[in-house]
Amino acid sequence: MNESNSNFILRIAIIGAGPAGFYAAGHLFKKYSSPVHIDMFDKLPTPHGLVRLGVAPDHQKTKSVSKVYDKIASNPNFRFFGYVEFGKDINLDDLKQHYHQIIFATGAQTDRNLRIPGIESNGSHSASEFVAWYNGHPDYKDRNFNLSHKSVAIVGVGNVAVDVARILCRTREELEKTDIADHALEVLSRSKIKHIHILGRRGPLQAAFTNPELKELGQMEDADTFTFKEEIEVDQETRKKLIESNDHSTIKKIDILTEYSRVRNATKSRRIDLRFLVSPVEIIDDGRGNVKSLKIVKNKLVSDKNGNIRAEPTDKFDYLEIGLVFRSIGYSGVPLEGIPYDESNGTVFHEKGRILEPDSRKHITGFYATGWIKRGPTGVIGTNKSDSLESVNCMIEDLNRNKYLDPKYPEISKVEDFLAERKPEFIDYESWLEIDREEINRGKNRGRPRVKYTTIQDLLNKSKKIKK
Ligand code: NAP
Repeated sequence: MNESNSNFILRIAIIGAGPAGFYAAGHLFKKYSSPVHIDMFDKLPTPHGLVRLGVAPDHQKTKSVSKVYDKIASNPNFRFFGYVEFGKDINLDDLKQHYHQIIFATGAQTDRNLRIPGIESNGSHSASEFVAWYNGHPDYKDRNFNLSHKSVAIVGVGNVAVDVARILCRTREELEKTDIADHALEVLSRSKIKHIHILGRRGPLQAAFTNPELKELGQMEDADTFTFKEEIEVDQETRKKLIESNDHSTIKKIDILTEYSRVRNATKSRRIDLRFLVSPVEIIDDGRGNVKSLKIVKNKLVSDKNGNIRAEPTDKFDYLEIGLVFRSIGYSGVPLEGIPYDESNGTVFHEKGRILEPDSRKHITGFYATGWIKRGPTGVIGTNKSDSLESVNCMIEDLNRNKYLDPKYPEISKVEDFLAERKPEFIDYESWLEIDREEINRGKNRGRPRVKYTTIQDLLNKSKKIKK
């Protein structure tokens, strides 16, 4: 970059205020040696993405990472424009006119499809909408989950499936210690659900959940977790290989699952059956469109030509009498206007975070990605730190090669002028911090970590209050 002009300030836009976006901002402030000014946009009024709206409310310790993001945001060269949506309130041309580099950190905002008959029945939901609902996402506040049924099935054995099962099993007293949305607290407190089937299509060795989350299922106040010996058995040969390869994590996983398979009386009022080697085949309705049962097939494991272990259906079927199904089979990105998108992965086209033209595979100058929209929906929050470092290193490398956009309006004040016309009610970070303080104060009165505002209007009211 030509830094001979001492007035030059590098202008960066980050689209998406989740962990990946914040880590990218942190790395840029730390690693770039010349002045850098960052504007972060999010379609929601609140920052922190899945830390606020995805991480389970009974995992408050995980949520405390938001303090790191507040620290990054306290840099005087950082601004937050909440409630400003890319593709609606601002577009690619606007960004090109104001910034030297743009980094997309929009996450994976939709679910993978489960294509089985009956999937549209009433009572068939994606886990992500349930998660967004209980975490107080304003767009999901009015979703309706009928918890008057006795049994539910959760398809998939990742950490989200485990989160959903846990939240369905928590007592009111347990939930009251969390920042779960008030509307969800009330509905869950009246839940009649007693039996939860979590369904893994492959075996325990291939299960996506992690050990701490698995262990937590055995420590619920009012729910027992069970597995079935024949579904979790690991032959001597495999066990030997695990020991030889020092795969302690998988050995531990099998040990916990084996513990859950020990015959014992259910002493608590709810039970979770953690199943393996079964796939849903069809959701059967009651004739009025409501979920009545789930047809499942028993699978066997086969190894494909690349050595990947796949589930293959057998001719053995079973039926689970249930009233609700949550599909928790992973997330997917959504295309961004004007940005090449790889449908097969649900991510943008990129190399190390540089967004590429799909045919020529040439980098589109000035455009980058980080987080789930770059690598897909994998890893934990901390994974985004190294992921965004890779993208930021590319950004800095390109700056050093003078490869960046040439905005018509690089002046810092121009963005606010432009937003004053397009989205005057945007939320800045100061307003967010005020919302944050108020939510925590509301919680203090009720012995809770916070009581969230869950409507756009409530959140905007808070903003107006301090802008006056
Ligand atoms: P995930 O970890 O990718 O798990 C998806 C599950 O769905 C897998 O068990 C997968 O089985 C199964 N699946 C996929 N397609 C299926 C199909 N057609 N039929 C039946 N099962 C199917 O996804 P996730 O649970 O949504 O989690 C996303 C990411 O967030 C993960 O990295 C997770 O660790 C992270 N996360 C972490 C925490 C935490 O740290 N506490 C909490 C929540 C989420 P196969 O393996 O057979 O494909």
